[in-house]
Amino acid sequence: MVKQIKKIGVLTSGGDAPGMNAAVYAIVRHALKSGLEVYGILDGYKGLVEGRIVPLSYNDVSGIVSRGGTILGTARLPEFVDAEVREVGVKQLKKHDIDAVVCIGGDGTYMGGLRLSEMGIPCIGVPGTIDNDIPSTEFTIGFDTCLNTIVESVDRIRDTANSHHRCIIVEVMGRFCPDLAIRSSLACESEYVVYSKDTYDEQEMLRVIKEDQEKGKKDFVIIVAEHTIPVQDIQKTIKENTDLDPRCTILGHVQRGGRPSAFDRVLAVRLGIFAVDLLLQGEAGKCVGAFGEDLVATEILKANELPKKQAQDVKPCVKKI
Ligand code: ADP
Repeated sequence: MVKQIKKIGVLTSGGDAPGMNAAVYAIVRHALKSGLEVYGILDGYKGLVEGRIVPLSYNDVSGIVSRGGTILGTARLPEFVDAEVREVGVKQLKKHDIDAVVCIGGDGTYMGGLRLSEMGIPCIGVPGTIDNDIPSTEFTIGFDTCLNTIVESVDRIRDTANSHHRCIIVEVMGRFCPDLAIRSSLACESEYVVYSKDTYDEQEMLRVIKEDQEKGKKDFVIIVAEHTIPVQDIQKTIKENTDLDPRCTILGHVQRGGRPSAFDRVLAVRLGIFAVDLLLQGEAGKCVGAFGEDLVATEILKANELPKKQAQDVKPCVKKI
């Protein structure tokens, strides 16, 4: 028989992402409306283990939908892989009579939720990460905002490249997922994009630059996904093989913050409501996702074993036009 849930917790964990607050808002409001009590667990699994758990009211989540970051705070607690550490977390939940938890974050956060589910606390994962590296959803909460931030930044960089007739190499985030690099490259008409180590073709990049120069082009933007090729290496290659004097920009943490886009807010609200409904139906150890208009729930183990997103969807567009 499914145990009736009366109190739920919500936490955000791993890297912050714009739209996490919109998810928290939807989870709290929908849970309250469904007759549940809701608790915020501060700073992810770290706050859980340390017992930093606070009640959340209707008004506590007023006006947070438009705010970047996460009002609950986030942290990393590598020790949460140890059953003994998780046991402390379970005790803290039991102290507050919390029956179930919604865990907002990436695949690491999902694993924490799965392990808690196995220990008798049903958890549902909600995809909150800028990287779009979770295959059980078409888009993760935060990806669209981050992409727009990159595009706006690269547009500015392009103005300088254009005015000074320069080549600027821009490193963007994405962990090991090529989506941010590829999509920002398409949106910013970058001359070349490095989205994986394997597909980086130094000679092709130099050929594209030289051909463009012959056509009279003087400004170049090369977009590089983090963890692929160091931007300094690309800078050196271009400097040694062309008459350009390239500069590097690492966009860094500016990509993570900021007001969430309408797309991310809507996605977060839809997924947050769906996650609470799943807990009410007695589900556990699953994560939610959206493919177009469809909402899907996937076993966390299966979701984390799905092949990682690759570049194939947009690959044909990557070739310079
Ligand atoms: P993300 O959720 O964005 O992938 P991390 O991989 O850093 O970020 O994971 C966030 C947190 O989730 C970790 O700091 C840890 O507390 C917890 N976690 C990650 N992997 C596991 C695991 N295998 N078992 C239990 N908890 C985990």
